[in-house]
Amino acid sequence: MTKPKILILGAGYGGIITSKRLEKLLKDGEADVTLINKHDYHYITTQLHKIGVGTAADRQFAISIPDLIDSTKTRFIKGAVSSVDIHNQLVHLEGGDTIEYDYLVTALGFEVETFGIPGSKENAFAIRSFRSSKAIYHHITKQLNLYKEDQDPSRLTFVVAGGGFTGIEMLGELAEGLPKLCSQHNIPFEKVKIVAVEAAESVIPFFPKQSIKYTTETLDKFDVELITSKKILECTPEKILLETNLEIPARTIIWSCGVKANSIVEKFGLPLEKGKIPIDSYLRVKNMTNVFSVGDCSLFMKDEKSSLPPTAQVALQQAPVCAQNIVSTIRGNELKVFEYHHKGTVASIGNFAAVGLVSRFRLSGLFGAFMKQVIEARYLFNLGGPALILKQHFRINREPV
Ligand code: FAD
Repeated sequence: MTKPKILILGAGYGGIITSKRLEKLLKDGEADVTLINKHDYHYITTQLHKIGVGTAADRQFAISIPDLIDSTKTRFIKGAVSSVDIHNQLVHLEGGDTIEYDYLVTALGFEVETFGIPGSKENAFAIRSFRSSKAIYHHITKQLNLYKEDQDPSRLTFVVAGGGFTGIEMLGELAEGLPKLCSQHNIPFEKVKIVAVEAAESVIPFFPKQSIKYTTETLDKFDVELITSKKILECTPEKILLETNLEIPARTIIWSCGVKANSIVEKFGLPLEKGKIPIDSYLRVKNMTNVFSVGDCSLFMKDEKSSLPPTAQVALQQAPVCAQNIVSTIRGNELKVFEYHHKGTVASIGNFAAVGLVSRFRLSGLFGAFMKQVIEARYLFNLGGPALILKQHFRINREPV
């Protein structure tokens, strides 16, 4: 009898944990597992803002995929998925390779939502992937170098569009990281302007008032100029235009106004709802029994009206259930219903402050920052055990940027 072929697309949070769980659950020789990812490293998306400002060493948050998987149990292919032929159970890669599957998991994550705002796609930077974050870092250092030649203040103005969690994390990182970058480039930090633009009345508007107050005060201490209740109308290479004819001359705009599913899923011939792949309570694509989907590219309705948010927390809880349900399908066993348990949310504002809610408890300040580090360390522990934590710790201390 031929072994079933399980194919996982994407080695972000959802994909890598699905493959690692399959390594544990499958008996020797029970199935062939293949993991495909664009790059040969798994990046810690929740820390990409640090890469963008150069406050973390690259290898701290980009971990070799072959080092994370058991190559005797999982075959890794570095490749970019271009389309899926659901009818013939084939996945096509850029460059022409084709891979067959019996069971498919799509875990291809998110892309940035620009809402069609003119110039935002072309002129604003996205915190999307390791590469896109690295591009922010290179752009910032380029602006610092060019400032020395033309003294154009727009080169020292850094705008973060969107005051949600990712936005405030980026602002905190800029506020802490730019002084060091400026001193490396012999530029007085006093000339730097960091601006936050948010269309709602406040940053993190979905949070309790005390958390909003704490975040606003922390950003104020960092000298971040906060512009609220203003929509962005256009981004150009030199400026950002806001409602009521407000213009901010700035050559660095970092876009953090929301995300949508990776648009590559539009080429898969799968059903789509709100641009995402709708999945049932077993994490199978609706009306299919051999295609599963997890994480940001999937739409899981928690009730009739609302769906689960695109977070690492959701992807990480879905992945083990997805693996278990694939194995149960192969073995003809009953499938497990996925139940989401929200454990809380914490956002860092630089290294020494954070804001969040865990259960009913509001977190802020140094304790919040400590909790954020605990959450990140816990993920590394689940991914690679104590050895990975030690390895990453070694890198933090030996590889300063
Ligand atoms: P991803 O982790 O995005 O993985 C997708 C994978 O697919 C990537 O490895 C990518 O390279 C690969 N891929 C994409 N296209 C292709 C292709 N065509 N072919 C092959 N491979 C491909 N969530 C939280 O819960 N808590 C937080 O504190 C938090 N902080 C965040 C901070 C930042 C700065 C950002 C950007 C996000 C944050 N999130 C947070 C959200 C979280 O990172 C995402 O929800 C999570 O990464 C989704 O996991 P995923 O597995 O669906 O996709």
